[in-house]
Amino acid sequence: MLNATPLEIKPREALRINPAKTCQPIGAMYAALGIHGCMPHSHGSQGCCSYHRSHLTRHYKEPVIATSSSFTEGASVFGGLANLTQALNNIFTIYNPDVVAVHTTCLSEVIGDDIPMMIKKSAEEGIIPAGKYVIHANTPSFVGSHITGFASMCTAMVRYFSERRMGMRNQINLVPGYVDPVDMRELKRITKEMKIDSIMFPDTSDVLDLPQTGVYHMYPKGGTTVDDLKSTGDSMATLALGHFASHPAATELDEKCGVPCAFLELPIGLSQTDRLIHALRNYAGVDVPDSITQERGRLIDVMSDMHQYFHGKRVAVAGDPDHVISLCQFLVELDMKPVYVITGSPGNHFENRVHEILKDQVPDAMIKQNADLFELHQWIKNSPVDLIIGNSYCKYIARAENIPAVRFGFPILDRMTHRLFPTVGYSGAMHLLNKIVEVTFDKRDRECPEELFELVQ
Ligand code: SF4
Repeated sequence: MLNATPLEIKPREALRINPAKTCQPIGAMYAALGIHGCMPHSHGSQGCCSYHRSHLTRHYKEPVIATSSSFTEGASVFGGLANLTQALNNIFTIYNPDVVAVHTTCLSEVIGDDIPMMIKKSAEEGIIPAGKYVIHANTPSFVGSHITGFASMCTAMVRYFSERRMGMRNQINLVPGYVDPVDMRELKRITKEMKIDSIMFPDTSDVLDLPQTGVYHMYPKGGTTVDDLKSTGDSMATLALGHFASHPAATELDEKCGVPCAFLELPIGLSQTDRLIHALRNYAGVDVPDSITQERGRLIDVMSDMHQYFHGKRVAVAGDPDHVISLCQFLVELDMKPVYVITGSPGNHFENRVHEILKDQVPDAMIKQNADLFELHQWIKNSPVDLIIGNSYCKYIARAENIPAVRFGFPILDRMTHRLFPTVGYSGAMHLLNKIVEVTFDKRDRECPEELFELVQ
């Protein structure tokens, strides 16, 4: 475990220990899986592709498909043109996808491979069959994080597909952010409940959360179709959920097709979900149905029932920037104190926004972008917290310091059911509350003196 983590914090410039992020291509691969009939393609060596696939598989508990340009020494010296050309030929011949979504890796970026030129050459040589598509995103892992990669692939979807074809259609685009398939399903349920036609891109529901039928489909029924992607250019508006993961694609769509966009944050917790519902109502010109109002009421009821247990509790939060920003807002609404807040992804917006959220209730909160879990552990050792919320890597700190941990965000590698329950929306907030209560009450029941061991809470 991490019991030997030193108390003394020394400045580090060129070393990250347990970074709270992962490779850019992982995000690009995940986004590409949200296009119907798409084969993600990793332009680099096989090791990168294997790692990225297995990381996604371990979180989503589903097989993740992707192909590789399989670089060896030759490609590293002379460039990857021959490898990509051969790969595209093989992919369309053997796997027959509708779309191949190419992302780069550190190696192909360092070489400086010109992917658009390579795709153009393959098209001219007839390697890309008629009616099929190859898109690309540059995803060098030595900058950004998996969230940057996700955002770049979403932007590529707009760049390659979106077009204004037949004037404005009565539909809303939703860019959901780097959330689980079950969250995307929940967002679609909310829009359907509000009787709004929407196009979500990407959409990994029914791709990475499939029922067990005994039959394997390489291209499941889910994912945003190419036709829907093209029609995003005709929509009334785009709602982009998350500054880091979704705003770039929405901006590109506005610039390319003139679709106005609303920049929102991930709808995690009460007020962030309120903002989404408000934006949906405004842009689509619909009323909020009773069913949604009742869901909201149930969440408020649970929040007020639990307030006595949450009030004043010190929390450490680590994870992806869009998730952490919205979660901090929710924790403040619960009267909790997010005293340590970090993300591994770079971006000043993170620190500014979290500071804005916490400045009144937790003015001395320590907030850091581009941070790692080692430093978070040192902060906790110096001044402990009551709860840690973050991905599976936080369990090492939780065990070393005997602090309850709620698994939240990506990746969750050591639990099974996170992929079944949403985090977004009013019902997602209730699920999150339930997880917080379970771990904190379990610890109290385990450790409290006998005279405080209560049957009724
Ligand atoms: S950091 Fe770069 S080289 Fe390493 S696995 Fe990620 S993409 Fe590949």
